[in-house]
Amino acid sequence: MSETSIKEAPDTSRHFLKQWIADDVAAGKTGGLVVTRFPPEPNGYIHIGHAKAICIDFGMAREFGGQCNLRMDDTNPSKESDEYAASIKEDIRWLGFDWGDGFYNASDLFDLMYTIAENLINTGHAFVCDLSQEDWKEYRGVPTEPGRESPFRGRSVAENLDLFRRMRAGEFSDGARCLRAKIDMTSSNIHLRDPVIYRIMHVPHYHAGDKWCIYPMYDFAHSIEDAYEGVTHSMCTLEFEVHRPLYDWVIDRMDEMNMLIIRNGVKIRPQQREFARLNLSYTVMSKRRLLQLVEENLVDGWDDPRMPTICGLRRRGYTPEAIRNFCERIGVSKYESLTDVALLEYCLRDDLNLRALRRMAVLDPLKVVVDNYPEHTVLTAEAQNNPTDESAGSRVIPFEREIYIERDDFMEVPTKKFFRMAPGQEVRLRGACIFKCTGVIRNAAGEVVEVHGTYDPESRGGNAADGRKIKGTIHWVPISSAVKLEVRLYDRLFTVPEPMADPGRDFREFLNPESLKIVTAYGEPALADAAPGALFQFERVGYFCVDNRDSKKGAPVFNRTVTLRDSWAKKGDKVVART
Ligand code: ATP
Ligand code: MG
Repeated sequence: MSETSIKEAPDTSRHFLKQWIADDVAAGKTGGLVVTRFPPEPNGYIHIGHAKAICIDFGMAREFGGQCNLRMDDTNPSKESDEYAASIKEDIRWLGFDWGDGFYNASDLFDLMYTIAENLINTGHAFVCDLSQEDWKEYRGVPTEPGRESPFRGRSVAENLDLFRRMRAGEFSDGARCLRAKIDMTSSNIHLRDPVIYRIMHVPHYHAGDKWCIYPMYDFAHSIEDAYEGVTHSMCTLEFEVHRPLYDWVIDRMDEMNMLIIRNGVKIRPQQREFARLNLSYTVMSKRRLLQLVEENLVDGWDDPRMPTICGLRRRGYTPEAIRNFCERIGVSKYESLTDVALLEYCLRDDLNLRALRRMAVLDPLKVVVDNYPEHTVLTAEAQNNPTDESAGSRVIPFEREIYIERDDFMEVPTKKFFRMAPGQEVRLRGACIFKCTGVIRNAAGEVVEVHGTYDPESRGGNAADGRKIKGTIHWVPISSAVKLEVRLYDRLFTVPEPMADPGRDFREFLNPESLKIVTAYGEPALADAAPGALFQFERVGYFCVDNRDSKKGAPVFNRTVTLRDSWAKKGDKVVART
């Protein structure tokens, strides 16, 4: 993706989902109502991909003056938990969205789902099947050839009811039997080939307790949940497109059972549409892989600042505004693509530039002694807190005889275009004065450990009294009043744009060994009492935020949120959007 395409946000004013909803509303199909839902499974922390779905689901409801429900799609108890459910709520709120009283658990509908399943048996639309999972798959066949009917398909209603009730009563072991919808074994869509709608699972549920040992399958449950909540527009990712005929089949059966709700005099018939999921370069997004990184201690938990999870991004210093703006820019389409993570970082810088207070901090210190500077402080630098926002005010930094500068801002033998500190060359010390290096002190190994020089006492604020031009400006901190800072320099977690692209290689092979470097830095005095979560631009260095987990009062730990420029673009392995 080129820098220009990053700056030109696509016109998302009427993407296909918006058009779809607008047409339905105009045609009076939904009684003037727009109800959407975001249906996470509480089996992990949500990530930037979910943020895309959240922005679409909540965004469309907001746009049409409707309602977006939050629903825990908790039909698979083996991997779900309260911890995950609580984190999902927190993260959605933080992103700036609100479900009002529209909070649901799919598991609260288990009784309803069970009743519908019995109704399906009674009307000849479902049967209990004893095939093993292997045999069931074998009978189902492949899309290009018709499947074979299960030998149990012809069971009587009475026998099916009896067996299904005994499944519920816990008489059979996991996998011994299942309930299948009776649809069409010759359909070219294999999801319609008598799909399983209930399975036996002797596992207690984090929300429903130990009441059940049979659980509904996703396709069956999801359509019932949508219908129950009166969802008018059900949006999900493309992999569900092939499931849509089954979704519609369940809705049709509910219609026959008079189970669709009526609102404003109109029967609400939920409809599903699909959009492309977000894939982001240098990132993995499957919850299974993210869990693996956490469980194998390859990262420091779900909120590790290198994780694409919402809590990780928050800890890294991402703002909800930056994430929402990113989701707006990537737009909504039906085509799978890979989005350059540089776009996300661009949106972040764009937002932080406006809100982050400026501070000076030196990450790789080199001591500089101003030989002609008096013992007591005579100079102070007045620095603006944010040049893009006057209301942020300014602060005063004492200038001292001994200061730190960034080691790479000094060159003993400067290259042609090096205008920073070098012997005999004048440089501006940001906001304070003009300095000229006169010599260096070395250690036994010959390395420069101290730079000496003189300042121009007439150069108040860093500008020459006679108006002579100074080409370079560098930042500095006064040594005696500096605060020592732990700074965590985070970088991308993976070294390649698509860590999952090669099925023959394990994604962990591509973990970036340099994704975290910890340094001791020195900051100007004002940084001592920075509050957890506070965001700063360390001038000329990057954006940083105060870690919300490990910081202590008076001893803030700083996370690098993002560099000032895209340093990966220079490496030549830029991602061109893949479609
Ligand atoms: P897994 O990673 O285990 O496949 P999932 O990402 O599908 O799980 P869910 O909790 O089922 O997790 O997702 C909730 C909703 O978020 C679904 O509607 C899904 O379509 C959407 N979603 C998930 N991942 C993305 C993504 N990368 N981009 C856009 N939407 C996504
Ligand atoms: Mg899913």
